[in-house]
Order: sequence, then C-alpha cells, then structure tokens
Amino acid sequence: MPQSLLEIIKGRIRESGPITVADYMDLCLGHPDHGYYMTRDPLGAGGDFTTSPEISQLFGEMIGVWLADLWIKSGRPLEFTLLECGPGRGTLMADIMRATKGVEGFHAAARIALMEMSPVLKDAQSRALRGYDPYWIGDIARLEGSAPVFLVANEFLDALPIRQFIKRGGEWRERGVSVGGCGQLEFCDLPADADILNAFPQAIKGSVESGYFETSLVLNQFIKSVNILLKKQGGAALFIDYGHVRASLGDSLQAMKEHKFAGIFDTPGSCDLTAHVDFENIARIGAGDGMAVRGPVTQRAFLQELGVELRAAMLCAGANPVQAQEILSGLKRISDTAGMGSLFKVLALTSDPELVPEGFDG
Ligand code: SAH
Repeated sequence: MPQSLLEIIKGRIRESGPITVADYMDLCLGHPDHGYYMTRDPLGAGGDFTTSPEISQLFGEMIGVWLADLWIKSGRPLEFTLLECGPGRGTLMADIMRATKGVEGFHAAARIALMEMSPVLKDAQSRALRGYDPYWIGDIARLEGSAPVFLVANEFLDALPIRQFIKRGGEWRERGVSVGGCGQLEFCDLPADADILNAFPQAIKGSVESGYFETSLVLNQFIKSVNILLKKQGGAALFIDYGHVRASLGDSLQAMKEHKFAGIFDTPGSCDLTAHVDFENIARIGAGDGMAVRGPVTQRAFLQELGVELRAAMLCAGANPVQAQEILSGLKRISDTAGMGSLFKVLALTSDPELVPEGFDG
C-alpha cells in the first residue's frame, strides 16, 4: 500500500531527526505526490477556504484599474510581463483582463506569466485564461524577456513556509516537529541558528515578552528576487495578504479544512497550512534594496481609494435585485472593517520612486 504523507514525514524524522516548521509546511503543501496544493483545488464553497477574487469580481476589477493606471504612468510600454504569483483558479487574472479590455494597447502589450506549483490549479488557470495565451513558471528566475514586470500576488505569501522561534530562559530556540512516544507528530525545541537570530529586528531581539517570532527565509529570498527583477526591468509588485503592519510575536501558523480551523498535525497534506505575513519585514527588505515602498494599507482603504464603491453602484444599476444584493454582500465581505477589509493588507514595491501607484494615500 502506498505510504501516506504522515508516514513519510515520520519516517524522515526517525531517520534524520526533528524537522523545522518550514520543512513540515513545505512537505504538507508541496510534496510532489501528497502535497495539499499538488492534489486538489482547495478554493471555493466546496473547498477549504475562499479568497477575495473568488468572493467578488470587484476585487479583480480594482486590481485591473490599478495596473492600467501604472502602465499608463509608465509611458504605456509596448511590451510588459503581467505576472501573477499563486493565481489559484485564475479568477483574479481573468477579472483583471476583463476590466482592462477598454484600455487601448494594454492587452496587446501584456504577456501573462503565472507562477504556480499546483498541476490541478494550472488546469483551472488554463481554462479561465483561454484566449490569453499565458505561460507558466515555477520560479521567478524563469521569467522570459526583459520587458517591465507588473506582478500581483493575492494570498500567495501566506503559503510560503515559515520558521518559528521562541525565547526560553533568555535563550532563543527554534520550534521543530518530532515523533512522540505514541508515534504521534508533536512540537519540540531545536537549537536556533545564529545567522537567523542575528537578522531579527531589534525590537524582537530585545523583547521580554514570550511568544513565537516567525520568519520565512523562502519569502525573504522571493522578495529579494522580485527587487532584483524590478530594478533590472522596471515595473511594480503588488502584494495582498493577511498579516500585520509591525513585526510582532505570536503563533500564526494555522490549518484550515472545509472553512474551519483544524489541528496543525491533522492528516498532513489534507489541510491548508498558512501563516500571517509580516509586512514590516517586506517593507524593510524593499527599502534595504533601494525600492520605493507604498503601504501597507488595509485592503478596505486600498479598494475604496480605487473607487470600489462607485464601481459596485454602477454594477447594481444594471442588475436585478437578487444580483444587486450579491454585489453588495461581496463588497462588504472583501472590504468590511470587521473582516477581510482590515485583516488583509496591501503593499507595493517599485524600483522607480517617480512611479507612484494609486491606492496608498488613504
Ligand atoms: N491568488 C489566488 C489563490 C491563493 S491560494 C486567490 O486569491 O484566489 C495560494 C496559491 O499559491 C495557489 O495557487 C497555490 O497553488 C500557489 N502556491 C503556493 N505556494 C506556491 C509556491 N511555492 N510556488 C508557486 N505557487 C505556489
């Protein structure tokens, strides 16, 4: 009988010792045969979680407006790469393309690239973007050509593996995953790597509070590659995700299954595992690499500044009462202060400080 991912993980720990939380996340999400994203479409009502573009077309339309504005401000380059990282079902990109149809020259100039690791979602993207001739990459280094790049990523960074550290008795330790006496997966303490500790923000190093500090080497490397790319080719990157504006302590690792929280060790590979994004960290890496950083602002502020309410009113004017109700409830879900509107943050990076994106003045 083929081994389950749980057995594979336990086998690996028994053979070479406890693994980091990042290794655990990586295996659960990306194992080639059993990884969560490799085996299913997790989105929507029948899946495990839902996202802003899946809730309302207004979200993708506003991102489309944002991109068209930047493209015009960039002098309407005749060629550019429209890159989406972690495009899910392709809904956001399809809405962006629909919303920009009337922007003269935009479609002709755009070459769509999708960074995706899931074969199941690649199929869905290919269906959603039929006619737009996208190409897929597994790594940002694989992007073709030297044209400016406009990158968007919604709920992508939260899927990148994090490592967790905690101070015990005045000393930092890393949280690991091991196999307990009854054969179950459990957390353990591991020695902490000095280089990683050195890179912690000062406020965290000196903190006397107890709690986990989370850092993602994969995310840091990814942001650095984006900065190098934008410095070389020009363009902008837009990141939207749930997370915090200031680096802080707290365990944000979470598992989701069928729209409910699950245990981190519940059937590995069958739950989504994510962590909150530390936007202060992204801003610091951006500024350190000489990028202009805009935000973070809340998703609500961003969408409002781009005119989401006006657009919703326009859609409602042409809709029947049931459709209008749906449009308004979608708007509320993606922009409510009590929900996604404030939990989600938006941050943009540009290599050219003169290129000022919309949405960050609120
Ligand atoms: N942006 C979409 C989907 C978010 S779910 C939406 O808003 O609806 C996360 C997406 O990131 C999925 O498409 C998943 O397959 C992809 N993903 C996660 N980790 C990835 C990685 N390391 N490389 C490429 N894609 C990844």
